Amino acid sequence: MAGHEADVIIVGAGLSGLFAARTVLAAGLTPLILEADERVGGRILTEEVLPGLPVEIGAQWIGDTHHRMFALADELGVETFPQYDEGETTYELAGSPVLRGDEFHRRFGGELAELTTVLRLLDELAAEVPPEAPWRAPRAQEWDAITAGAWYDGQGLSPVARTLLEICTVGILAVPTVEVSFLHLLFTIQTCGVTAELFAESEGGAQTTRFVGGTAEIPNRLATLVESHLVLDAPALLIEHATDSVTVHCRGGRSARGRRVIVAISPMLAGRLMYDPPLSGYRDQLTQRMPNSAAMKAFFVYDEPFWRADGFNGQLISDVGPARMSNDTCIPGDDHGVILMFLEGEQARTHGHWSQEERQAALTAELVRHYGDKAAHPVAYVDGEWGSRQWTRGCYNANCGPLVWTTYGPALAEPIGVIHWASTDTATQWSAYMEGAVESGERAAREVIEALG
Ligand SMILES: Cc1cc2nc3c(=O)[nH]c(=O)nc-3n(C[C@H](O)[C@H](O)[C@H](O)COP(=O)(O)OP(=O)(O)OC[C@H]3O[C@@H](n4cnc5c(N)ncnc54)[C@H](O)[C@@H]3O)c2cc1C
Repeated sequence: MAGHEADVIIVGAGLSGLFAARTVLAAGLTPLILEADERVGGRILTEEVLPGLPVEIGAQWIGDTHHRMFALADELGVETFPQYDEGETTYELAGSPVLRGDEFHRRFGGELAELTTVLRLLDELAAEVPPEAPWRAPRAQEWDAITAGAWYDGQGLSPVARTLLEICTVGILAVPTVEVSFLHLLFTIQTCGVTAELFAESEGGAQTTRFVGGTAEIPNRLATLVESHLVLDAPALLIEHATDSVTVHCRGGRSARGRRVIVAISPMLAGRLMYDPPLSGYRDQLTQRMPNSAAMKAFFVYDEPFWRADGFNGQLISDVGPARMSNDTCIPGDDHGVILMFLEGEQARTHGHWSQEERQAALTAELVRHYGDKAAHPVAYVDGEWGSRQWTRGCYNANCGPLVWTTYGPALAEPIGVIHWASTDTATQWSAYMEGAVESGERAAREVIEALG
């Protein structure tokens, strides 16, 4: 690729970069995608845990309002199927033994009502946050000066309601609520619609639908449409930019020259590239303050989904852990039972350092508490840690701590000369999700197409 020329250089072949490339190509411009890894897809990664049994180490679901993703799947011929959602959730909270959903609702009805009230209030406040410019919310300064955790603590909630709220929120942000600003939480809610879309106790909202063959079918098929414009194993290191041209230098002395560049990687990784001339201190201060969060998924495979026969939906909620939530993630037409355990925030940070055997043992003990001894005998196990992956360095997404949005927010997606920014973390609808990745790729491509006439 040395000396390669294209109209638009794209750094990163995740969903946002691939979608941007496809859009640029459709507009009659030539893209060139430089991907650091030996595969496309980035935070989307499907692996076979047993022959013919795919599991999603990365992104798994879409929800009913992920219209761009439904359209893309349709266009690419990737079929979908609904998430299994029958039976009771089990709860292990506030020192109680594991309770079935019915019993939990009977015992803790008052606490659950408190939660409903807080979620309604969150929806009302989030409606005041413009997702394209959260710093312009009428109370932006006030909300950005406190953490989501501090705001939760101020609501006078009972311990059970407060714990449930923490579990649900960490399930979305993948960091403890003391690490994100309250404005960031409201922004997240607003980009997704309402809390019901995000915090559904049973599956719903963002997690209604899966892809036949695995989510990686989406980036893999998208990549075939831009195959001759894609270079794998090409980590960008330095972006030299001038008024009307750009050269991206990659590891190994390779380079590519274009008229514009779309940097389709998370803000923190974008901040680790070198720029010549250097970008403003303002932009750099932003990328120093948008760390990626921490989440892991662990899959247990059994001969059959025995929990279904016992009336369980495979979802657990626990403040004991290590997983705070789980999911039935079986594949229709395959007899195996598959349970997915989520490690998020501190749980991912701590258990990510353990050996796989230790992690599996701790998670097995939790499953046994919820579903009995049958859970002790999986036929296969796999998990995926993201913090140590060089080209991701944490997931699900980037979060803003206090005073980041109001101080540096405008630098997130605003082009700088010939440099444009994509990645789901820059999206205004379903930021952090695949839907947001597509939106951001589409937006960045549109900017470039307009700029190049
Ligand atoms: C465990 C997990 C579970 C998730 N679950 C869901 C879900 O159920 N539903 C959902 O909608 N979303 C989910 N997500 C989020 C979803 O995966 C992301 O929103 C989306 O895939 C992000 O796409 P992107 O293009 O913005 O970024 P990325 O996927 O991060 O793509 C960036 C690409 O750039 C490459 N790259 C990095 N640095 C360089 C460099 N220097 N030079 C060249 N290339 C580089 C990377 O290798 C990568 O391919 C999940 C993510 C994870 C990790």
